[in-house]
Amino acid sequence: MTPKISDTLAGNAFAAGEASAPDLMRAIIATATDAIIAVDPEQRIVLFNPAAEAMFRCSAAQALGQPLGRFLPPGLRAAHHRHVVAFAATGDTARAMSHLRPLVALRANGEEFPIEATISRVEIAGQIYAASILRDITLRHQHDAALQHQAELLDLADDAIFSWEWEGQIIYWNRGAERLYGYTREEAIGQNGHALLRTRFPKGIETVLSTLQREGTWEGELTHTSRDGRESIVAARLKRVDDAAEERLVVLEIARDLTAWKAVEAAETQSRQREAIAQAAATAAASARDHLREILDALQSGVMLMSEMDTRIEFANAAMRELIFGSRRCRSTPPAYGRDFTFARYDGIELSPNERPAARAFAGKRVEHQQLLLRRPDGTTQPVEVFATVLATGDAGPGRAVISVHDLSRLVQAEQFKDDFLLLVSHELRTPLTAIHGGASLLLNKPHLDADDRRELLRDVVAESERLERLLSNLLLVTEVVGGRLRVSTEPVPIAPLARTIAKELADRNPNHTFLVAAGPKLAIAEADPSLVEEILRNLYENAVKYSPCGGMIRTEIEEAADRAVIRVRDEGIGIAPEHVASVFERFRRVGGDPHVRGMGLGLYLSLALAEAQQGEISASSPGVGLGATFTVTLPAAHDRDLFATQP
Ligand code: ADP
Repeated sequence: MTPKISDTLAGNAFAAGEASAPDLMRAIIATATDAIIAVDPEQRIVLFNPAAEAMFRCSAAQALGQPLGRFLPPGLRAAHHRHVVAFAATGDTARAMSHLRPLVALRANGEEFPIEATISRVEIAGQIYAASILRDITLRHQHDAALQHQAELLDLADDAIFSWEWEGQIIYWNRGAERLYGYTREEAIGQNGHALLRTRFPKGIETVLSTLQREGTWEGELTHTSRDGRESIVAARLKRVDDAAEERLVVLEIARDLTAWKAVEAAETQSRQREAIAQAAATAAASARDHLREILDALQSGVMLMSEMDTRIEFANAAMRELIFGSRRCRSTPPAYGRDFTFARYDGIELSPNERPAARAFAGKRVEHQQLLLRRPDGTTQPVEVFATVLATGDAGPGRAVISVHDLSRLVQAEQFKDDFLLLVSHELRTPLTAIHGGASLLLNKPHLDADDRRELLRDVVAESERLERLLSNLLLVTEVVGGRLRVSTEPVPIAPLARTIAKELADRNPNHTFLVAAGPKLAIAEADPSLVEEILRNLYENAVKYSPCGGMIRTEIEEAADRAVIRVRDEGIGIAPEHVASVFERFRRVGGDPHVRGMGLGLYLSLALAEAQQGEISASSPGVGLGATFTVTLPAAHDRDLFATQP
């Protein structure tokens, strides 16, 4: 009977005399984690331990006596057989088979798997057996494959990935690092990384190492120098790893080259800066333009910019638009010469193209104080004074001329006013002067005139000289008002006594008229300038007399209401037509139309100016022609009334 191999092997493995050895050996074979299989010279399985059963998914009962080849993939069976035979012939007692090539075995369910095997040769009772110890290395293979993948992945990464020992010695170097720094893996590994890459740390290596010690990671920008001397700025991430197996501290480093990115960023920053500068310049130019436009629009004179090329008006300020269009409104297109206006001489003849201000300026002529008429399409004209200057552009582009146009209408009106005024004044002065002169001459040349005629003549002379004086004082006041030199000094003025005094004077001189001054129960005290109030009252009374040729009642009503002192002067004279009531206060306006009534049309104009100068108002009303007129003056009531408290 063939001895049981397990018994035999166990017996051989121990010194003779140790009775428990076969049992111990059996127990070891039975509990071994490696599969143990033995074959006889015919390659039939004679030993198949439990680990082999588990590994091959086949019971020992099914395996024993089977050819070993059954557990090998069919393609490997012949080669394996040759190998086992050759091994038996060599006389070696043991060999690790896996160093020859990777071994593959076959489970009972047909699944192939990688193994590691050692083969031993034993001779028992003249029989040569081969015993194999097999280890399933599927997991290790998977692990190795995973590691391989990881390594390939690391090599695929664009980033430089490398690791170094705490002291700096490089122990891993991926393809990315090769590409970035130009050192091959073989050249880099073993070198001091900081020295090799001439690393510049932001605050020195010590700071980085102490952060790694404390926090385990560090991130920041570093500067590395490649093999070719090129400096790269990298975004680096460092991680401290405790390599327990090797009892060392390792630092993993991933470095991303920022050089190109930095260059792009710098270019972008630069272009952003350029854009910002251009934007700021554009904004500044726009605001300067707006500012300039505002200034030009604020000017009282018309200003336009004209191009030499096509004599087109490029710009016209608000005053110019007002001169041309009659309003300052903004038009989308500037005015056009010929369409919106033309220039003509004072005699009305249109300017020829060469005579126009811009053309003369472009021709190098001085254009100053050129007095012209600005003519609009509707035929209306306006006297203007024109200046034109060619702008120094500083380049070869088309020339531009600035044309400034001053409105002369007011000046012309003022001239007209002056002429009318002089005519009126001389006429008005002459009338009383003639009367005075006539009266005085008669008195001188006719010494025997009777006393009544004499008195009559003297009364006329006195009346006319008073009239002359009133005229002159009115004229003087008008010039003060027009020239802005009127002095107003207000004080509390009781109106009724003042009105009574003046009314009495007028009544004495005008026996055909009855003056009546009626005051309300509350004493009306105005905060006013007494001399100016007197002037207003005199004007109103004189008018009331003048425009009541048939005599009649001139009634003054005085009251104080709602903080205003109110004076109403009513007469029973010729009245004012409704359409003329509003214009009686205009300068030189004489609406009555009676040439025999003397006057300059200044009295009411002056009265209005004097009332307004004291924060007062004046208005006229009349029920109609022939029905008398009423003039109402209101003045601010005085607050300080103590002085007059005891008066009735
Ligand atoms: P003047 O009396 O010198 O003409 P005023 O300025 O005093 O100038 O008056 C302007 C015009 O108002 C007068 O010409 C007259 O037509 C009208 N007017 C003034 N007062 C009266 C009045 N009391 N009744 C009718 N018309 C008057």
